[in-house]
Amino acid sequence: MGAGRQVYLDHSASTPVDPRVIEAMLPYFGEVYGNPSSTHRFGSRAERAVEDARMTVAGILNCQPNEIVFTSCGTESDNLAIRGAAWSARHRGEPSRLVTSPIEHSAVTSTIKQMDELMGFDTEIVPVDKFGSVDSDLFAEACQRGGALASIIYASNELGTIQDLPLLSQIAHAHGMLLHTDAVQAGGQLDLDVERLGVDMLSLSAHKFYGPKGVGLLYVKDGLDLAPSQSGGSHEHGLRAGTHNTAFIVGMAKALELANDENDGRLRHFTEMRDQLIGGILDRLSCAELSGHPDRRLPSHASFVLHGIDANALMMHLDMLGVAASSGSACKTGNPEPSDILLGVGYSEDEAKSGLRLSVGTQTSEDNISYALDVLETSAEKLGRLKREMAR
Ligand code: PLP
Repeated sequence: MGAGRQVYLDHSASTPVDPRVIEAMLPYFGEVYGNPSSTHRFGSRAERAVEDARMTVAGILNCQPNEIVFTSCGTESDNLAIRGAAWSARHRGEPSRLVTSPIEHSAVTSTIKQMDELMGFDTEIVPVDKFGSVDSDLFAEACQRGGALASIIYASNELGTIQDLPLLSQIAHAHGMLLHTDAVQAGGQLDLDVERLGVDMLSLSAHKFYGPKGVGLLYVKDGLDLAPSQSGGSHEHGLRAGTHNTAFIVGMAKALELANDENDGRLRHFTEMRDQLIGGILDRLSCAELSGHPDRRLPSHASFVLHGIDANALMMHLDMLGVAASSGSACKTGNPEPSDILLGVGYSEDEAKSGLRLSVGTQTSEDNISYALDVLETSAEKLGRLKREMAR
């Protein structure tokens, strides 16, 4: 079966850097090497590039340039939003409560857990339905009890489910709460207009939309009181100390601009490829159940529970045959523990060990999908047979 073939269906974990992004970044590894904070002309050239990037990004998010904080990744953006809002609220003597969902990325859950365990914050986790949609009535009840911040993921990395952020923002604000969203998976695909979404903070990471790894941003609504979680110099309006990574910031802005300009075509392609995958898998694998929302899901994202199949064993089979997939969050690859997200939406422990995520990208072709479907069918059949034989 397809010796030497490679089919990458893990774009939710990371995307290749667009050659146009690499080209935009190149001058900032060489000729423009000044520190953007330096006052001489070497610094000014780099500073101009950082500020141009800020303008580009702010235009796409429909916010002011001073509301953009450049960070080193999506994880850092989530950490800054949660710690910063929580510490500020504590400093002002406001209720030490945080509201979140059971389907957040570990960048959010681990940070909130730490605030809970080390700093005595109370955490309320608002239940979601089987598709991973936050229950807006229960969210309202949680916000009514007050607190520093609610953090709700825009689009789930594991389920693909998209939340109704305009509604959730409205609810949070009606009860005097701030809303942060981890939009890392939404970046490059969904509407990022912060006015329309109504959010107070929004995290992005460039490597999910054909930009470089190791750079992200946090939108912070003007006037919001946020304590920096990384202290030092006065970079990024005092919210994120550390010399700017000029090349990566330029690359992120270019990648977001390309995603924005090419959005219609990309989404059409992603949806077509994703739907071929979903249709093919449900047709050919009797053990497969679509996980996440059937309609309100990321255009690039297909996820399943494969009843009776060990997802980690399946990943190894797929990899040997050249198909790159994921059993859930990339950070959990090789981890035999059940997926917290699948448990969070009500699947059993066994089902939560059988998650499969396939995510398509700009380079995914029909031929790729057809090969992946063949490989999946053969591998799932083999594993199912093995399991039945062992049970005898
Ligand atoms: N949030 C979500 C939803 C993600 O999918 C990821 C990465 O997989 C992150 C945060 C972390 O982003 P980064 O890899 O830039 O730290």
